[in-house]
Amino acid sequence: MFSNDRNTALIKQKASELGFMSCGIAKAVHLDDDARRLEQWLTKGHHGGMQYMERHFDLRTDPRKLVPGAKSVITLLLNYYPSAQQKHDAPKIAKYAWGTDYHYVIRDKLNELLAFIKENIGTVDGRGFVDSAPVLERSWAVNSGLGWIGKNGNLLTRSNGSFFFIATLITDLELVADAPFATDHCGTCTRCVDACPTQAIVSPGEVDGSKCISYLTIELKDAMIPGELQPKMEGWMFGCDVCQDVCPWNRFSKPHSEEYLTPIPEILNLSLSEWENMSEENFRKAFKSSPLKRSKFAGIQRNLKAIKTGNT
Ligand code: SF4
Ligand code: SF4
Repeated sequence: MFSNDRNTALIKQKASELGFMSCGIAKAVHLDDDARRLEQWLTKGHHGGMQYMERHFDLRTDPRKLVPGAKSVITLLLNYYPSAQQKHDAPKIAKYAWGTDYHYVIRDKLNELLAFIKENIGTVDGRGFVDSAPVLERSWAVNSGLGWIGKNGNLLTRSNGSFFFIATLITDLELVADAPFATDHCGTCTRCVDACPTQAIVSPGEVDGSKCISYLTIELKDAMIPGELQPKMEGWMFGCDVCQDVCPWNRFSKPHSEEYLTPIPEILNLSLSEWENMSEENFRKAFKSSPLKRSKFAGIQRNLKAIKTGNT
C-alpha cells in the first residue's frame, strides 16, 4: 500500500472511532466559485449584522493561507439528531443546541485526531475548525464527496439528511482525495422554500441571513426583533429547524449516540411562562456549557417577547 493510501485509511478509521459519521478529503486548493458566490452574498447584505462574515475573505477561499503549505482538507460530520422531543408547549430550540456546546465537543475530537496523526504518521502541521474561523465548511464537504448543498443552504447527504455538524481539519499532509459530489438530489422539491416562515430562502441554496429566524434569535444584537418579523416566529426561541424538518432527506436521520449532546432537561420540558420566569442566575447555571449562552439571558428574554407578540 502507498503511504498516502495508508495514511488516508488510518485517518478515516480514527475519525470513525471518534464518533464522526463521515469523513471526506479534498485537495487544498483555492475555492474560485465559492469566492464569487460569497462575494455576491455579502454584496447583497444577506449577512445582516454579521460583520465578521466580511472579514478574512482571502483566508476563507484559500486554505493555504490558513495553514501554510496545506495539501489536504479533511471534512468530518458529527450527527446531532436527537431521539428525544421537546414538549409541545416548550419554546422551540434548534436541535443542534439541545446538549453541550458543539464547539467544545468537536474541538476535543479534532485535537484527538490531530494528535493521532502526529503519533502515527509523523510531523504534520494541521489546524481544526468548527464554525469558529473563516472556512467554507459546506463547500469543502461537497468537494470531499460527502453531499450537496440543498435549496435550504444546508449540506445534505443521501444517507443521513442534514442534522449534523461540519468540522474541518486543514493539514499539510498529502492524502488521497475523494471525488467531489457532483449531483444535486433536491430535484423539483421546494418544501423548504415553501415552509420557511419568513421567506428567507431567496433562491436555491441562498438564504437571506437578515430574515432568517436563526440569525434573528441568535446573532441579531438589537433590543427587539424587527416588528414585521415577530408574527412569523412560529414559536422559535433559539434557532430554527423548519427548513430541515420538512426536508424529505431527513427521513434518513438516525439518533446520535454522543453522550455530550444529551439534551439539557430544561430545553425539553420548560414552558414559555417558565422560561419567562427564569432568573438570570438560574439561566447562567443551567446553560453555562450550552450554545444558548450565545444569545445571553437578555437575548432569550427578547426572543420570548417576540414569540408572544407573534402569538397574539
Ligand atoms: S432556518 Fe428557518 S427562517 Fe432560516 S431559512 Fe430555514 S426555515 Fe427559514
Ligand atoms: S426540502 Fe427539498 S428542496 Fe429543500 S433542501 Fe430538502 S430536498 Fe432540497
